[in-house]
Amino acid sequence: MKKSIKNRLVGNFMLIILITVVILEIMLINGIKEYYYNNLETIMTNQIEFSTDFYSRYFSSSSIEDIIIDDIDVFWQHTDAQVQILTLDGKLLMDSLGIRNEENLIYPDIESAMENMKGTWTGYVPYDDESVMAVSMPLKYQGTPIGIIRFISSLEQTNNNIFQISRFLILMGIIVVLFSGLVSLFLANSIVKPLAEVTAAAEKMADGQFKTRSRVTLNDEIGRLSNTLNYMADEILKKEQLKNDFISSISHELRTPLTSIKGWAVTLKDLEDPDRKLLEDGLEIIENESDRLTLMVEELLDFSRFTSGRVQLEKDCFNIKDTISIIAKQLKPRAKDNKITFTVSMDDDLENYIGDENRVKQVLLNILDNALKFTGEGGKVSLITYRDDKNIVIEVNDTGIGIPKNDLPNVKQKFYKGKNSNSHTGLGLSISDEIVRLHGGSLDIDSKEGKGTKVVVKLPLEEVVL
Ligand code: ADP
Repeated sequence: MKKSIKNRLVGNFMLIILITVVILEIMLINGIKEYYYNNLETIMTNQIEFSTDFYSRYFSSSSIEDIIIDDIDVFWQHTDAQVQILTLDGKLLMDSLGIRNEENLIYPDIESAMENMKGTWTGYVPYDDESVMAVSMPLKYQGTPIGIIRFISSLEQTNNNIFQISRFLILMGIIVVLFSGLVSLFLANSIVKPLAEVTAAAEKMADGQFKTRSRVTLNDEIGRLSNTLNYMADEILKKEQLKNDFISSISHELRTPLTSIKGWAVTLKDLEDPDRKLLEDGLEIIENESDRLTLMVEELLDFSRFTSGRVQLEKDCFNIKDTISIIAKQLKPRAKDNKITFTVSMDDDLENYIGDENRVKQVLLNILDNALKFTGEGGKVSLITYRDDKNIVIEVNDTGIGIPKNDLPNVKQKFYKGKNSNSHTGLGLSISDEIVRLHGGSLDIDSKEGKGTKVVVKLPLEEVVL
Protein backbone atom coordinates (compact mmCIF):
# COMPACT_ATOMS: atom_id res chain seq x y z
CA MET A 1 0.00 0.00 0.00
CA LYS A 2 1.26 3.46 -0.87
CA LYS A 3 2.55 5.28 2.21
CA SER A 4 0.28 8.27 1.75
CA ILE A 5 -1.35 10.36 4.46
CA LYS A 6 -4.74 9.29 3.12
CA ASN A 7 -3.97 5.58 3.44
CA ARG A 8 -2.48 6.06 6.88
CA LEU A 9 -5.44 8.12 8.07
CA VAL A 10 -8.05 5.72 6.71
CA GLY A 11 -6.06 2.65 7.84
CA ASN A 12 -5.53 3.90 11.39
CA PHE A 13 -9.07 5.16 11.71
CA MET A 14 -10.51 1.86 10.47
CA LEU A 15 -8.21 -0.09 12.78
CA ILE A 16 -9.37 1.89 15.80
CA ILE A 17 -13.04 1.53 14.84
CA LEU A 18 -12.60 -2.18 14.12
CA ILE A 19 -10.89 -2.86 17.44
CA THR A 20 -13.55 -0.81 19.29
CA VAL A 21 -16.42 -2.54 17.52
CA VAL A 22 -14.95 -6.02 18.06
CA ILE A 23 -14.34 -5.37 21.78
CA LEU A 24 -17.82 -3.89 22.17
CA GLU A 25 -19.43 -6.80 20.30
CA ILE A 26 -17.59 -9.40 22.38
CA MET A 27 -18.63 -7.62 25.57
CA LEU A 28 -22.22 -7.21 24.42
CA ILE A 29 -22.64 -10.79 23.21
CA ASN A 30 -21.07 -12.11 26.39
CA GLY A 31 -23.33 -9.88 28.45
CA ILE A 32 -26.40 -11.07 26.60
CA LYS A 33 -25.35 -14.69 26.96
CA GLU A 34 -24.80 -14.15 30.66
CA TYR A 35 -28.17 -12.47 30.96
CA TYR A 36 -30.04 -15.29 29.20
CA TYR A 37 -28.21 -18.03 31.10
CA ASN A 38 -28.79 -16.26 34.42
CA ASN A 39 -32.44 -15.85 33.56
CA LEU A 40 -32.81 -19.54 32.77
CA GLU A 41 -30.92 -20.46 35.90
CA THR A 42 -33.20 -18.23 38.00
CA ILE A 43 -36.32 -19.75 36.43
CA MET A 44 -35.06 -23.30 37.01
CA THR A 45 -33.97 -22.48 40.56
CA ASN A 46 -37.38 -20.97 41.31
CA GLN A 47 -39.10 -24.04 39.93
CA ILE A 48 -36.92 -26.42 41.97
CA GLU A 49 -37.36 -24.33 45.10
CA PHE A 50 -41.08 -24.19 44.57
CA SER A 51 -41.30 -27.93 44.13
CA THR A 52 -39.02 -28.89 46.99
CA ASP A 53 -40.07 -26.28 49.58
CA PHE A 54 -43.77 -26.67 49.10
CA TYR A 55 -43.96 -30.38 48.94
CA SER A 56 -41.13 -31.42 51.27
CA ARG A 57 -43.39 -30.51 54.16
CA TYR A 58 -45.84 -33.17 53.00
CA PHE A 59 -43.41 -35.96 52.13
CA SER A 60 -44.75 -39.15 53.41
CA SER A 61 -41.44 -40.80 54.26
CA SER A 62 -37.83 -40.04 55.15
CA SER A 63 -36.62 -42.48 52.51
CA ILE A 64 -35.96 -41.00 49.07
CA GLU A 65 -37.05 -44.25 47.38
CA ASP A 66 -40.45 -44.07 49.15
CA ILE A 67 -40.89 -40.44 48.27
CA ILE A 68 -40.34 -41.29 44.61
CA ILE A 69 -43.01 -43.90 44.72
CA ASP A 70 -45.49 -41.75 46.69
CA ASP A 71 -44.90 -38.19 45.53
CA ILE A 72 -43.18 -38.54 42.18
CA ASP A 73 -45.50 -36.36 40.10
CA VAL A 74 -45.09 -33.29 42.33
CA PHE A 75 -41.62 -32.77 40.93
CA TRP A 76 -42.42 -32.44 37.28
CA GLN A 77 -45.89 -31.04 37.46
CA HIS A 78 -44.63 -27.45 37.30
CA THR A 79 -41.80 -27.68 34.81
CA ASP A 80 -40.97 -28.58 31.22
CA ALA A 81 -37.42 -29.42 32.27
CA GLN A 82 -36.01 -32.90 32.51
CA VAL A 83 -36.16 -33.88 36.20
CA GLN A 84 -33.76 -36.27 37.91
CA ILE A 85 -33.82 -37.57 41.46
CA LEU A 86 -30.54 -38.84 42.84
CA THR A 87 -29.35 -40.31 46.05
CA LEU A 88 -26.96 -38.26 48.14
CA ASP A 89 -24.02 -40.11 46.65
CA GLY A 90 -25.12 -39.33 43.07
CA LYS A 91 -26.95 -42.53 42.08
CA LEU A 92 -29.73 -41.80 39.58
CA LEU A 93 -33.01 -43.07 41.00
CA MET A 94 -35.46 -41.54 38.60
CA ASP A 95 -35.37 -39.53 35.38
CA SER A 96 -38.46 -37.89 33.81
CA LEU A 97 -37.17 -38.85 30.37
CA GLY A 98 -36.62 -42.42 31.42
CA ILE A 99 -32.87 -42.28 31.21
CA ARG A 100 -31.07 -44.88 33.21
CA ASN A 101 -27.58 -44.84 34.57
CA GLU A 102 -26.05 -47.51 36.71
CA GLU A 103 -22.99 -45.55 37.77
CA ASN A 104 -23.05 -42.58 40.08
CA LEU A 105 -23.37 -39.29 38.22
CA ILE A 106 -20.47 -36.90 38.68
CA TYR A 107 -21.25 -33.32 37.63
CA PRO A 108 -20.24 -30.09 39.35
CA ASP A 109 -23.86 -29.17 40.09
CA ILE A 110 -24.45 -32.56 41.75
CA GLU A 111 -21.29 -32.18 43.78
CA SER A 112 -22.52 -28.81 45.07
CA ALA A 113 -25.89 -30.33 45.97
CA MET A 114 -24.10 -33.10 47.88
CA GLU A 115 -22.56 -30.34 50.00
CA ASN A 116 -26.04 -29.01 50.73
CA MET A 117 -25.78 -26.12 48.24
CA LYS A 118 -27.37 -25.21 44.99
CA GLY A 119 -25.24 -26.18 42.00
CA THR A 120 -25.42 -25.13 38.35
CA TRP A 121 -23.65 -26.61 35.38
CA THR A 122 -23.81 -26.08 31.62
CA GLY A 123 -22.38 -28.57 29.22
CA TYR A 124 -23.14 -31.47 26.91
CA VAL A 125 -24.97 -34.69 27.74
CA PRO A 126 -24.76 -37.80 25.58
CA TYR A 127 -28.49 -37.90 24.75
CA ASP A 128 -28.81 -34.32 23.40
CA ASP A 129 -27.06 -32.52 20.54
CA GLU A 130 -27.46 -29.12 22.16
CA SER A 131 -25.79 -28.07 25.36
CA VAL A 132 -27.88 -28.19 28.52
CA MET A 133 -28.09 -26.35 31.82
CA ALA A 134 -28.48 -28.42 34.97
CA VAL A 135 -29.46 -27.06 38.37
CA SER A 136 -29.22 -29.36 41.38
CA MET A 137 -30.47 -28.86 44.94
CA PRO A 138 -30.66 -31.09 47.98
CA LEU A 139 -34.05 -32.68 48.70
CA LYS A 140 -34.84 -32.35 52.39
CA TYR A 141 -37.09 -34.21 54.74
CA GLN A 142 -37.81 -32.13 57.85
CA GLY A 143 -34.70 -30.08 57.16
CA THR A 144 -32.33 -33.02 56.60
CA PRO A 145 -31.01 -33.75 53.07
CA ILE A 146 -32.22 -37.14 51.88
CA GLY A 147 -31.44 -36.90 48.17
CA ILE A 148 -30.75 -34.59 45.25
CA ILE A 149 -33.22 -33.12 42.78
CA ARG A 150 -31.81 -32.04 39.47
CA PHE A 151 -33.52 -30.04 36.68
CA ILE A 152 -31.97 -30.18 33.25
CA SER A 153 -33.04 -27.85 30.52
CA SER A 154 -31.89 -27.79 26.92
CA LEU A 155 -30.15 -24.54 25.93
CA GLU A 156 -31.32 -24.85 22.31
CA GLN A 157 -33.93 -22.11 22.51
CA THR A 158 -31.71 -19.82 24.61
CA ASN A 159 -28.70 -20.33 22.34
CA ASN A 160 -30.92 -19.69 19.38
CA ASN A 161 -32.08 -16.40 20.83
CA ILE A 162 -28.51 -15.40 21.67
CA PHE A 163 -27.42 -16.35 18.15
CA GLN A 164 -30.18 -14.20 16.58
CA ILE A 165 -29.23 -11.18 18.70
CA SER A 166 -25.51 -11.73 18.07
CA ARG A 167 -26.12 -11.93 14.34
CA PHE A 168 -27.98 -8.64 14.47
CA LEU A 169 -25.21 -7.04 16.55
CA ILE A 170 -22.49 -8.29 14.19
CA LEU A 171 -24.44 -6.94 11.23
CA MET A 172 -24.73 -3.58 12.96
CA GLY A 173 -21.00 -3.73 13.75
CA ILE A 174 -20.18 -4.35 10.08
CA ILE A 175 -22.41 -1.44 9.07
CA VAL A 176 -20.70 0.82 11.65
CA VAL A 177 -17.23 -0.20 10.39
CA LEU A 178 -18.22 0.36 6.76
CA PHE A 179 -19.86 3.67 7.55
CA SER A 180 -16.85 4.90 9.52
CA GLY A 181 -14.65 3.73 6.65
CA LEU A 182 -16.61 5.98 4.32
CA VAL A 183 -16.50 8.88 6.78
CA SER A 184 -12.74 8.47 7.28
CA LEU A 185 -12.26 8.36 3.53
CA PHE A 186 -14.21 11.58 3.21
CA LEU A 187 -12.24 13.14 6.08
CA ALA A 188 -8.91 12.01 4.65
CA ASN A 189 -9.88 13.42 1.26
CA SER A 190 -10.80 16.74 2.81
CA ILE A 191 -7.24 16.94 4.18
CA VAL A 192 -5.30 15.32 1.40
CA LYS A 193 -6.93 17.08 -1.54
CA PRO A 194 -6.02 20.62 -0.46
CA LEU A 195 -2.56 19.33 0.49
CA ALA A 196 -2.14 17.90 -3.00
CA GLU A 197 -3.16 21.28 -4.43
CA VAL A 198 -0.64 23.09 -2.22
CA THR A 199 2.05 20.58 -3.22
CA ALA A 200 1.26 21.12 -6.90
CA ALA A 201 1.52 24.90 -6.43
CA ALA A 202 4.79 24.49 -4.47
CA GLU A 203 6.21 22.27 -7.22
CA LYS A 204 5.39 24.91 -9.82
CA MET A 205 7.07 27.54 -7.66
CA ALA A 206 10.11 25.30 -7.23
CA ASP A 207 10.16 25.15 -11.02
CA GLY A 208 10.49 28.93 -11.12
CA GLN A 209 6.86 29.78 -11.81
CA PHE A 210 6.54 32.34 -9.04
CA LYS A 211 3.35 33.83 -10.46
CA THR A 212 1.52 30.62 -9.51
CA ARG A 213 -0.67 31.01 -6.47
CA SER A 214 -1.87 28.34 -4.07
CA ARG A 215 -5.66 28.48 -3.60
CA VAL A 216 -6.76 29.31 -0.06
CA THR A 217 -10.12 27.68 0.68
CA LEU A 218 -10.22 27.59 4.47
CA ASN A 219 -8.34 29.48 7.13
CA ASP A 220 -6.98 26.27 8.65
CA GLU A 221 -3.40 24.98 8.84
CA ILE A 222 -3.40 24.18 5.11
CA GLY A 223 -4.89 27.58 4.33
CA ARG A 224 -2.13 29.18 6.35
CA LEU A 225 0.46 27.04 4.54
CA SER A 226 -0.96 28.29 1.22
CA ASN A 227 -0.80 31.88 2.46
CA THR A 228 2.81 31.44 3.54
CA LEU A 229 3.70 29.88 0.21
CA ASN A 230 2.00 32.73 -1.67
CA TYR A 231 3.75 35.26 0.55
CA MET A 232 7.07 33.54 -0.16
CA ALA A 233 6.43 33.67 -3.91
CA ASP A 234 5.52 37.37 -3.63
CA GLU A 235 8.72 38.06 -1.75
CA ILE A 236 10.81 36.11 -4.25
CA LEU A 237 9.21 38.06 -7.09
CA LYS A 238 9.91 41.32 -5.28
CA LYS A 239 13.51 40.31 -4.59
CA GLU A 240 13.88 39.23 -8.22
CA GLN A 241 12.59 42.60 -9.35
CA LEU A 242 14.89 44.39 -6.92
CA LYS A 243 17.86 42.35 -8.12
CA ASN A 244 17.10 43.15 -11.76
CA ASP A 245 16.62 46.82 -10.98
CA PHE A 246 19.81 46.76 -8.98
CA ILE A 247 21.84 45.19 -11.77
CA SER A 248 20.57 47.65 -14.32
CA SER A 249 21.05 50.64 -12.04
CA ILE A 250 24.50 49.55 -10.88
CA SER A 251 25.58 49.09 -14.48
CA HIS A 252 24.32 52.55 -15.17
CA GLU A 253 26.05 53.95 -12.08
CA LEU A 254 29.33 52.31 -13.05
CA ARG A 255 29.06 53.39 -16.64
CA THR A 256 28.71 57.12 -15.86
CA PRO A 257 32.12 57.64 -14.20
CA LEU A 258 33.72 55.20 -16.63
CA THR A 259 32.42 57.24 -19.60
CA SER A 260 33.74 60.38 -18.04
CA ILE A 261 37.16 58.83 -17.30
CA LYS A 262 37.39 57.38 -20.80
CA GLY A 263 36.25 60.68 -22.36
CA TRP A 264 38.89 62.68 -20.52
CA ALA A 265 41.61 60.14 -21.10
CA VAL A 266 40.92 60.24 -24.88
CA THR A 267 40.72 64.04 -24.89
CA LEU A 268 44.00 64.40 -23.03
CA LYS A 269 45.70 61.78 -25.21
CA ASP A 270 44.58 63.50 -28.40
CA LEU A 271 45.77 66.92 -27.30
CA GLU A 272 49.03 67.77 -29.03
CA ASP A 273 50.05 70.56 -26.79
CA PRO A 274 47.76 70.53 -23.75
CA ASP A 275 47.86 73.57 -21.58
CA ARG A 276 48.53 72.96 -17.92
CA LYS A 277 45.11 74.11 -16.72
CA LEU A 278 43.22 71.76 -19.02
CA LEU A 279 45.53 68.91 -18.10
CA GLU A 280 44.99 69.53 -14.41
CA ASP A 281 41.21 69.81 -14.83
CA GLY A 282 41.08 66.60 -16.84
CA LEU A 283 43.24 64.65 -14.42
CA GLU A 284 41.26 65.93 -11.47
CA ILE A 285 38.05 64.75 -13.02
CA ILE A 286 39.61 61.37 -13.76
CA GLU A 287 40.78 61.19 -10.13
CA ASN A 288 37.38 62.19 -8.73
CA GLU A 289 35.50 59.76 -10.94
CA SER A 290 37.93 56.99 -9.99
CA ASP A 291 37.28 57.80 -6.32
CA ARG A 292 33.56 57.61 -6.98
CA LEU A 293 34.01 54.24 -8.64
CA THR A 294 36.12 53.00 -5.74
CA LEU A 295 33.48 54.16 -3.26
CA MET A 296 30.77 52.43 -5.21
CA VAL A 297 32.71 49.18 -5.44
CA GLU A 298 33.48 49.43 -1.73
CA GLU A 299 29.83 49.89 -0.97
CA LEU A 300 29.05 46.78 -2.99
CA LEU A 301 31.76 44.81 -1.21
CA ASP A 302 30.48 46.07 2.12
CA PHE A 303 27.02 44.99 1.20
CA SER A 304 28.15 41.50 0.31
CA ARG A 305 30.06 41.29 3.61
CA PHE A 306 27.01 42.44 5.55
CA THR A 307 24.65 40.03 3.86
CA SER A 308 26.97 37.11 4.51
CA GLY A 309 27.44 38.25 8.14
CA ARG A 310 31.19 38.60 7.71
CA VAL A 311 31.40 42.10 9.15
CA GLN A 312 33.17 42.48 12.43
CA LEU A 313 33.49 45.81 14.17
CA GLU A 314 36.96 46.94 15.11
CA LYS A 315 36.08 48.76 18.26
CA ASP A 316 38.35 51.26 19.89
CA CYS A 317 38.02 54.35 21.99
CA PHE A 318 37.82 57.48 19.85
CA ASN A 319 36.87 61.10 20.20
CA ILE A 320 33.50 61.36 18.54
CA LYS A 321 33.62 65.17 18.56
CA ASP A 322 36.79 65.11 16.47
CA THR A 323 35.31 62.53 14.10
CA ILE A 324 32.22 64.64 13.51
CA SER A 325 34.30 67.78 13.04
CA ILE A 326 36.43 66.07 10.39
CA ILE A 327 33.39 64.90 8.47
CA ALA A 328 31.75 68.33 8.70
CA LYS A 329 34.91 69.94 7.39
CA GLN A 330 35.03 67.43 4.56
CA LEU A 331 31.47 68.16 3.44
CA LYS A 332 31.30 71.89 3.91
CA PRO A 333 32.83 72.73 0.49
CA ARG A 334 30.30 70.48 -1.21
CA ALA A 335 27.43 72.17 0.64
CA LYS A 336 28.81 75.54 -0.32
CA ASP A 337 29.13 74.52 -3.97
CA ASN A 338 25.50 73.39 -3.92
CA LYS A 339 24.44 76.60 -2.16
CA ILE A 340 23.17 74.71 0.85
CA THR A 341 23.47 76.12 4.36
CA PHE A 342 25.23 73.46 6.39
CA THR A 343 25.29 73.93 10.15
CA VAL A 344 26.94 71.76 12.76
CA SER A 345 26.28 71.85 16.50
CA MET A 346 27.70 69.61 19.21
CA ASP A 347 27.27 69.40 22.96
CA ASP A 348 30.40 70.02 25.00
CA ASP A 349 30.09 66.87 27.07
CA LEU A 350 30.76 64.60 24.09
CA GLU A 351 34.13 63.05 24.09
CA ASN A 352 35.18 59.45 23.91
CA TYR A 353 33.16 56.67 22.45
CA ILE A 354 34.02 53.02 22.09
CA GLY A 355 33.09 51.80 18.67
CA ASP A 356 34.35 51.30 15.15
CA GLU A 357 35.36 54.80 14.15
CA ASN A 358 35.53 54.10 10.44
CA ARG A 359 32.10 52.50 10.45
CA VAL A 360 30.58 55.39 12.42
CA LYS A 361 32.18 57.75 9.90
CA GLN A 362 30.67 55.69 7.09
CA VAL A 363 27.20 56.06 8.63
CA LEU A 364 27.53 59.81 9.07
CA LEU A 365 28.94 60.28 5.59
CA ASN A 366 26.12 58.29 4.08
CA ILE A 367 23.37 60.16 5.91
CA LEU A 368 24.93 63.55 5.21
CA ASP A 369 25.59 62.57 1.61
CA ASN A 370 21.88 61.74 1.23
CA ALA A 371 20.88 65.02 2.93
CA LEU A 372 23.08 67.02 0.53
CA LYS A 373 22.08 64.91 -2.46
CA PHE A 374 18.36 65.35 -1.96
CA THR A 375 18.40 69.02 -0.95
CA GLY A 376 18.25 71.67 -3.62
CA GLU A 377 19.89 75.09 -3.83
CA GLY A 378 19.02 77.42 -0.96
CA GLY A 379 18.14 74.48 1.29
CA LYS A 380 19.44 73.76 4.75
CA VAL A 381 21.21 70.78 6.25
CA SER A 382 21.97 70.61 9.94
CA LEU A 383 24.00 68.13 11.95
CA ILE A 384 23.23 68.12 15.67
CA THR A 385 24.97 65.87 18.17
CA TYR A 386 24.10 65.60 21.86
CA ARG A 387 23.82 63.17 24.75
CA ASP A 388 20.61 61.93 26.25
CA ASP A 389 20.36 59.60 29.26
CA LYS A 390 21.41 56.50 27.46
CA ASN A 391 22.77 57.47 24.06
CA ILE A 392 24.83 59.68 21.91
CA VAL A 393 22.26 61.11 19.52
CA ILE A 394 23.21 62.31 16.05
CA GLU A 395 20.47 64.14 14.14
CA VAL A 396 20.70 65.10 10.49
CA ASN A 397 17.93 67.39 9.27
CA ASP A 398 17.45 68.64 5.75
CA THR A 399 14.91 70.77 3.92
CA GLY A 400 15.16 68.65 0.78
CA ILE A 401 12.67 66.78 -1.37
CA GLY A 402 11.63 64.42 1.48
CA ILE A 403 10.51 60.83 1.14
CA PRO A 404 6.96 59.86 0.06
CA LYS A 405 4.94 58.31 2.90
CA ASN A 406 4.66 54.98 1.03
CA ASP A 407 8.43 54.75 0.48
CA LEU A 408 9.35 55.58 4.07
CA PRO A 409 9.07 52.04 5.48
CA ASN A 410 11.25 50.70 2.64
CA VAL A 411 14.16 53.12 2.45
CA LYS A 412 16.27 51.09 4.86
CA GLN A 413 15.84 47.96 2.75
CA LYS A 414 18.65 46.69 0.55
CA PHE A 415 18.60 48.03 -3.02
CA TYR A 416 15.69 50.31 -2.24
CA LYS A 417 16.13 53.63 -3.93
CA GLY A 418 13.80 56.46 -4.69
CA LYS A 419 12.75 57.60 -8.13
CA ASN A 420 14.90 60.71 -7.90
CA SER A 421 17.82 60.75 -10.29
CA ASN A 422 20.21 61.44 -7.40
CA SER A 423 19.54 58.00 -5.97
CA HIS A 424 22.43 55.58 -6.38
CA THR A 425 22.73 51.96 -5.37
CA GLY A 426 20.04 51.96 -2.69
CA LEU A 427 22.50 50.30 -0.32
CA GLY A 428 23.70 53.23 1.80
CA LEU A 429 20.91 53.30 4.37
CA SER A 430 20.68 49.53 4.69
CA ILE A 431 24.43 49.31 5.37
CA SER A 432 24.25 52.25 7.81
CA ASP A 433 21.33 50.65 9.61
CA GLU A 434 23.28 47.41 9.95
CA ILE A 435 26.36 49.23 11.31
CA VAL A 436 24.28 51.11 13.90
CA ARG A 437 22.54 47.85 14.84
CA LEU A 438 25.93 46.17 15.34
CA HIS A 439 26.78 49.01 17.76
CA GLY A 440 23.56 48.22 19.63
CA GLY A 441 21.88 51.45 18.53
CA SER A 442 19.05 52.55 16.24
CA LEU A 443 18.61 54.51 13.04
CA ASP A 444 15.21 56.19 12.53
CA ILE A 445 14.00 58.21 9.59
CA ASP A 446 11.16 60.67 9.61
CA SER A 447 10.29 62.58 6.48
CA LYS A 448 7.62 64.65 4.78
CA GLU A 449 7.54 64.76 1.02
CA GLY A 450 8.48 68.24 -0.18
CA LYS A 451 9.37 69.41 3.33
CA GLY A 452 12.50 67.53 4.34
CA THR A 453 13.95 64.59 6.18
CA LYS A 454 15.19 63.92 9.68
CA VAL A 455 17.50 61.00 10.39
CA VAL A 456 18.20 60.16 14.04
CA VAL A 457 21.06 57.82 14.96
CA LYS A 458 21.31 56.66 18.54
CA LEU A 459 24.52 55.02 19.77
CA PRO A 460 24.07 53.57 23.25
CA LEU A 461 25.99 55.17 26.09
CA GLU A 462 26.97 51.87 27.67
CA GLU A 463 29.74 52.00 25.14
CA VAL A 464 30.80 55.50 26.13
CA VAL A 465 33.74 56.27 28.30
CA LEU A 466 33.77 59.80 29.61
P1 ADP B 1 21.04 55.69 -2.32
O1 ADP B 1 22.37 55.18 -2.69
O2 ADP B 1 20.02 55.54 -3.38
O3 ADP B 1 21.09 57.04 -1.72
P2 ADP B 1 20.21 54.93 0.33
O4 ADP B 1 20.00 53.58 0.93
O5 ADP B 1 21.18 55.83 1.00
O6 ADP B 1 20.56 54.68 -1.17
O7 ADP B 1 18.80 55.64 0.29
C1 ADP B 1 17.67 54.96 -0.19
C2 ADP B 1 16.66 55.93 -0.74
O8 ADP B 1 16.07 56.65 0.33
C3 ADP B 1 17.21 56.96 -1.64
O9 ADP B 1 17.28 56.47 -2.97
C4 ADP B 1 16.20 58.08 -1.51
O10 ADP B 1 15.09 57.86 -2.35
C5 ADP B 1 15.74 57.96 -0.09
N1 ADP B 1 16.43 58.96 0.79
C6 ADP B 1 17.41 58.68 1.68
N2 ADP B 1 17.77 59.82 2.35
C7 ADP B 1 17.01 60.81 1.87
C8 ADP B 1 16.89 62.23 2.16
N3 ADP B 1 17.66 62.82 3.06
N4 ADP B 1 15.97 62.93 1.47
C9 ADP B 1 15.18 62.34 0.54
N5 ADP B 1 15.24 61.02 0.22
C10 ADP B 1 16.14 60.25 0.88
